[in-house]
Amino acid sequence: MGQDTATPLKRGGGGGGATLPTTTANGGGGRTRVSSLIPPRRQIHRTFNNIKITILCGFVTILVLRGYIGVNLGTSDADAVNQHLIEETNRILSEIRSDNDPDDLTDTEINPNVTYTLGPKITNWDEERKIWLDRNPDFPNYVNGKARILLVTGSPPNPCDNAIGDHYLLKSIKNKIDYCRLHGIEIVYNMAHLDKELAGYWAKLPLIRRLMLSHPEVEWIWWMDSDALFTDMVFQLPLSKYDGYNLVIHGYPDLLFDQKSWIALNTGSFLFRNCQWSLDLLDVWAPMGPKGPVRDEAGKILTANLKGRPAFEADDQSALIYLLISQKDQWMNKVFVENSYYLHGYWAGLVDRYEEMIEKYHPGLGDERWPFVTHFVGCKPCGSYGDYPVERCLSSMERAFNFADNQVIKLYGFGHRGLLSPKIKRIRNETVTPLEFVDQYDIRRPVHGSSGSRS
Ligand code: UDP
Ligand code: MN
Repeated sequence: MGQDTATPLKRGGGGGGATLPTTTANGGGGRTRVSSLIPPRRQIHRTFNNIKITILCGFVTILVLRGYIGVNLGTSDADAVNQHLIEETNRILSEIRSDNDPDDLTDTEINPNVTYTLGPKITNWDEERKIWLDRNPDFPNYVNGKARILLVTGSPPNPCDNAIGDHYLLKSIKNKIDYCRLHGIEIVYNMAHLDKELAGYWAKLPLIRRLMLSHPEVEWIWWMDSDALFTDMVFQLPLSKYDGYNLVIHGYPDLLFDQKSWIALNTGSFLFRNCQWSLDLLDVWAPMGPKGPVRDEAGKILTANLKGRPAFEADDQSALIYLLISQKDQWMNKVFVENSYYLHGYWAGLVDRYEEMIEKYHPGLGDERWPFVTHFVGCKPCGSYGDYPVERCLSSMERAFNFADNQVIKLYGFGHRGLLSPKIKRIRNETVTPLEFVDQYDIRRPVHGSSGSRS
């Protein structure tokens, strides 16, 4: 099934600018008292020697001065500047990380007896949204027959624990911008905690709700984790399959209803239709999220009821699985559990097979032959405590990124030197007829036949 059950979870010193002493040649006109007492040939010889000595002394002086100024003054200046930069950076980092904001008025007391809500209960969103769409024909939810999709992703407000984590966040958003640009999908990157209680993996819930309500023109909100990468840049969502459904999520019905497995569904990449049903589901999904006792207690319930779940606080994925199992009749007729392609693909079974995929298949398939999404579940590249060795996670993420990036930069005539290399090489010569390559390599066209799933 492609599922692995072991998935819990520098300023240049600049040498001080020593000024070179300039030696002005006395062009024959200058005569000294000494020189008038000496025969002309010897005088010429001595003058020549004097010039040589002067030049030599000047040269030594320059060396000494340069050495002194460059090493002692310039570098110590630069060191001081560097030291200051380091101290300032550390000060700002610790200020950001301390998370103490005396002006923060969003803190609210959570009362365990009152069920947490995402906001005022909205009951007529479908009607309200329809009226808005009718009044705003410049913002249609379908453009040229295609539903408007908003891809939403994000990361914590603070810097990662390690600089490399921030680097991979950058690579991850570059990957998503590329995919969205190629497929006409809008994109939002959020770094704010819209609701302090729902920090961490729960942060997506209030964000999705807020975006639905603020963008009535958007038909589908597509959440994607920061640790998930598009690895098939050609594949497109088979949206027509989802007519009549409001939630599309990767998973396996047997794992969900027969095994009640905590990894039956994955909340790293899923789509919500912008409608009342989705708002209602978010409302019943959120109450296990508030951090502290509520989240801790809910975690116990989830661990007790879901197969394979380790003991830890309630997470958004387990909570959704639990909800859909326990209220199956109420929700499942509008939930499309997708597994004919990798809307979410667990990285460990995929990243070592990229060479094989390149040899045998081509982008556009989206399934195990060329996975649409590779998700680094449990790697926590931005945090400190992942479930896998950090080297394995980082090299695997690098491979996935380059595997995908090769598909993008091929159009421009380049490819990565290897799946582990950020360096690129030319893969074809420039010509005076570039459009033939656009026709051949532009991945906005399904050049390999129809994109879709196999089932
Ligand atoms: N996230 C966020 N803000 C936060 C923490 C997390 O937007 O403060 C997002 C981020 O995109 C992250 C996702 O929530 O990828 C889910 O967390 P994670 O990927 O670490 O969970 P896993 O997939 O490993 O279970
Ligand atoms: Mn994730």
